[in-house]
Amino acid sequence: MKYLIDLHVHSNASDHAFSSLEELIRQAKEKKLLGFALTNHGPILPDSPREWHFGNLKVIPDYVDGIRIYKGIEANIISIEGETDLPMKYDSMLDIVLAGFHSLTPYSEESTEEENTKTLENVIRRGEVDILAHLGNPKYPFDKEKIVKLAKDYNVAIEINNSSFEKSRKGSESHCLEILKLCVKYGTYISLGSDTHFSYNIGNFSKIESLVNSSGIRQEKILNTNFEIIESFLKERRQNK
Ligand SMILES: [Zn+2]
Ligand SMILES: [Zn+2]
Repeated sequence: MKYLIDLHVHSNASDHAFSSLEELIRQAKEKKLLGFALTNHGPILPDSPREWHFGNLKVIPDYVDGIRIYKGIEANIISIEGETDLPMKYDSMLDIVLAGFHSLTPYSEESTEEENTKTLENVIRRGEVDILAHLGNPKYPFDKEKIVKLAKDYNVAIEINNSSFEKSRKGSESHCLEILKLCVKYGTYISLGSDTHFSYNIGNFSKIESLVNSSGIRQEKILNTNFEIIESFLKERRQNK
């Protein structure tokens, strides 16, 4: 099974990423992808676009050159109450909201497993976030069983991030695999993301594809399988907001 929708992509609107939207679209076409989510970092990080970026994503059509573009954000979790830096006034303009823990935010890297668990519970319950990004990061331990189950109950997806198996967040692999197994156990949606910061890497799930396929997860629980799945997931999310 090849997954042709990449749900975690950065453009050079974040200055630590190096490709324009047009270059991303060109590479997506080259790789015969069906679409991708443009998910630049929430405004709190030093290299993030400012709020207006998210307010003006509306100028990008849903399809460009045959490629579906989901307008999104990778927001930063900033408090134990589960708040993020998602600019709420633009929330309704976004198709998809990812959120994760990042350094250089008000959320302490010293937080305990108990605190991180509480935080993720609150993120899920607040209902603003569709996909929890790169949870395998060993810097932010949490009660995996509790969170994967709660995510299922609240129809929140959990990301399996290809980059966590390559250059980012060292030591993530075993945690990602545990999380994946729990998603299979509870029937939680998963979302595959390349987390690319360079156009040539768009749609690259080379490190995770076979792990996902051999995990026993049902195709209808993988948001990237086809448009029907991602669209019905997002629709249900919007109805409950
Ligand atoms: Zn991230
Ligand atoms: Zn990212």
